[in-house]
Amino acid sequence: MLKKISVIVSCYNEEESLPLFYQEMNKVMEELKKYKFELIFVNDGSKDKTLEVIKTLRKKDNRVRFVSFSRNFGKEAAMLAGLDYSTGDYVTLMDADLQDPPKMLPEMLKYIEEDGYDCVGTRRVTRKGEPPIRSFFARRFYKLINKMSKVEMVDGARDYRLMTRQMVEAILNCREYNRYSKGLWSFVGFKTKWLEFENVQRVAGETKWSFWKLFKYAIEGIVAFTTVPLTIAAFLGILFCFIAFVMIVVIICKTLIWGDPVSGWPSLACIIIFVSGIQLFFMGIFGEYLAKTYLETKKRPIYIVKETEKEIQ
Ligand code: UDP
Ligand code: MG
Repeated sequence: MLKKISVIVSCYNEEESLPLFYQEMNKVMEELKKYKFELIFVNDGSKDKTLEVIKTLRKKDNRVRFVSFSRNFGKEAAMLAGLDYSTGDYVTLMDADLQDPPKMLPEMLKYIEEDGYDCVGTRRVTRKGEPPIRSFFARRFYKLINKMSKVEMVDGARDYRLMTRQMVEAILNCREYNRYSKGLWSFVGFKTKWLEFENVQRVAGETKWSFWKLFKYAIEGIVAFTTVPLTIAAFLGILFCFIAFVMIVVIICKTLIWGDPVSGWPSLACIIIFVSGIQLFFMGIFGEYLAKTYLETKKRPIYIVKETEKEIQ
């Protein structure tokens, strides 16, 4: 029996990149004749002709399957839907813009089949072509989250990876609403081999990630994989109590020894503003965790499917 590889491609407004992607992918499929393939395109509520392009590909090639969402649910939801629909022995996730080179697949397969790895991940060693500010904050973010979280997040790691069915099932068991896959991959464990490659620029179209979207995603990662900010809040609380206690003792002694001239209200005002600022800041952090818990308890579906290839047979 031939082994089957599922290729999951999340697409949001990718009408220009998709034909190029298919062409490139086809070359790799020709090369890997020993395997069966299914290409699962997840249309994440695109506003352009992405779905039409996918349907045309499906008419040409019945290895093409698709899942189309009722609206844009985000890349995390798209990846999950792809994993849900995949049936292959090996599963790989790719971007539609060819920033994840399909030609790395044969090498990735070799590591899994010959060297006994469960997963082969990829990481960019350069961030060429990316705005410098974005790279700077990305680096700081990975430093910070790795300090705080037990789960290791690899700097520059892409979502592009090849996994065994066993690992996919483990991921599918994590049904949280606030998904942060980079953490989930590490969370489920398994033996992972990292391949490095130079950053490739998008073939067509433009990036869907604004700085603000990335910032929110970073917060999502922190809230999803560590509770260290809550511990910091508790620690600061204790520290402030201690300082206050020392100050009380000092003031009482001072008053007993030198009397009590009323003075020092500006410093008092500063202290009050400082402490209430810190309180508000940490209330914001608690709020962040609470909000995530709230969304989690609602148990809303992570994505809603409008159409799949079965309906257009
Ligand atoms: N994507 C998606 N839903 C979204 C945003 C992006 O499915 O809401 C897909 C997009 O079509 C692409 C991949 O996720 O295949 C990566 O997006 P992009 O290339 O814009 O991100 P970048 O590579 O710049 O980080
Ligand atoms: Mg991209």
